[in-house]
Amino acid sequence: MTENEARKNMVALARSLFERGLSGGSSGNMSMRLEDGWLLTPTNSSMGTLQAEALSRVDDNWRHVDGDQPTKEVFLHRAMYEARTSAGAVVHLHSTHAVAVSCLANTDPVDVLPALTPYFVMRIGRLPLIPYHRPGDETLAEPVRELAREHTAVLLANHGPVVAAKSLDAAVSASEELEESARIFLLLQNCKTRGLDAAQVEELRQRFPIP
Ligand code: ZN
Repeated sequence: MTENEARKNMVALARSLFERGLSGGSSGNMSMRLEDGWLLTPTNSSMGTLQAEALSRVDDNWRHVDGDQPTKEVFLHRAMYEARTSAGAVVHLHSTHAVAVSCLANTDPVDVLPALTPYFVMRIGRLPLIPYHRPGDETLAEPVRELAREHTAVLLANHGPVVAAKSLDAAVSASEELEESARIFLLLQNCKTRGLDAAQVEELRQRFPIP
């Protein structure tokens, strides 16, 4: 994919998320690795109306070199890439159901969402919860970096998910799977539920390891 194609792809994926209500207002941001730096969505931009030529470009050292200023949450993206050297893209959303789960009391911070479907186990695996930090508090980068070493996605308490994957398409798709899993989990609150058992989860982890 040329850089031009990558820019157009980012704009199209962002618009698709926006149009389906997964990133309202100016919330949500995404990034992808280029040969000599990263491409990010700009600060204070709506995912519904991004312009390919205005996307932010930073160099190998995360210095802004082209386009609009990058998202203020750039440090979350950087922390994910530092922990996951194979990651090609990162998506961060304030999607409703995932945020709702991030606000629930009495969840297991090591594993916030139970394994209800195989698709969640195959694309997200185990989802840890990171304690609340106020917006802009860059000390949040540290627990993100720490947990991302072992997890492809993390959930920020009272905030939303951050998901890494090999490509932007895969990161968007995994973010959608996470949102859907959160929705299913909430639909089943107070219902007697049969999730996957430990052996079923382990079989999926063996057969479909998350890169
Ligand atoms: Zn955010």
